[in-house]
Amino acid sequence: MISRRAFLETVSAAVVLPAWDGQSTPPNEWGSPVFDLHFHMRPQPAANLAHLDGAGVTKANLLTRGVVTEQLAAIEAAAPKRFTWFNSADVTKPEAEQILTAAVKAGAQGFGEMKFHVAADGPELRRMYALAGELKVPILVHFQEVDHFENEGTWSTGFAKTFESILKAYPQTTFIGHADAFWANVSADYHNEAAYPSGPIVRGGITDKLLGDYANLHGDLSANSANNALSRDAEFTKDFLARHHTKLLFGSDCGCTDGHGAGISQGGNPAAARLAGKCVARETLGLLKRSASPAIFQKITWGNVHKLLRIPD
Ligand SMILES: [Zn+2]
Ligand SMILES: [Zn+2]
Repeated sequence: MISRRAFLETVSAAVVLPAWDGQSTPPNEWGSPVFDLHFHMRPQPAANLAHLDGAGVTKANLLTRGVVTEQLAAIEAAAPKRFTWFNSADVTKPEAEQILTAAVKAGAQGFGEMKFHVAADGPELRRMYALAGELKVPILVHFQEVDHFENEGTWSTGFAKTFESILKAYPQTTFIGHADAFWANVSADYHNEAAYPSGPIVRGGITDKLLGDYANLHGDLSANSANNALSRDAEFTKDFLARHHTKLLFGSDCGCTDGHGAGISQGGNPAAARLAGKCVARETLGLLKRSASPAIFQKITWGNVHKLLRIPD
């Protein structure tokens, strides 16, 4: 049993953060405020806030699909100014452009996430790349070549072979790369052998090269894919974060309920077992904190996304 004195000491040792006024830079356990670019909207406002508050995240970008006007209004009412949103629509359907244009008119600040069983350089996604450029909003794409479970299928295929031609063909479009194939290709020896390769990084990988060569490509550090890539080779990670510090954006893609790893953090993904019982946001923020200077950490977790989405910070 805990003594009353020990209990009081524990309570007084807990950090009490003052309430945030929604305007000034908020206090934060990570040393500076954090914006989660990759947060799938949950139906109940409280469930969204439970994850942000639990993980020490100040603001998040809600990834949504379909018409979400009412849910967004409820979330905004519950927590003013803590959320932005992206919208996605089935790119194989002819009405996708109309839906996404309407979403941007209604306040969506980007397309995403785009996760469909089509080729990265196919006609379906090409229409979306062109539209995102026209509407001047970024497009967040999930690239995956290896199944996480039998018959899952692949998503936006051909990243390593064809995506450079897309970056060249759509210079007015801002791309945000995400998921397995994007992050496995930081290493030059990758040939789609595994969803999440391990071991030291071989310098000169395609993703590293594209981030360096193309101003219109950014990297989304969410999910097991980015966490795994950044966990492979501490020396590489330090250099990589420093080299691309204006191009990288923190995101979690975490499905845990409380910002501490309860529930399932990487849903429907048995290949991501290394993060079971953990909060992806916390794991990746810890990794970034250990691998980057405070100035670079601030850019990756807050500054870059505010610039990209033109949000006043
Ligand atoms: Zn994804
Ligand atoms: Zn979490």
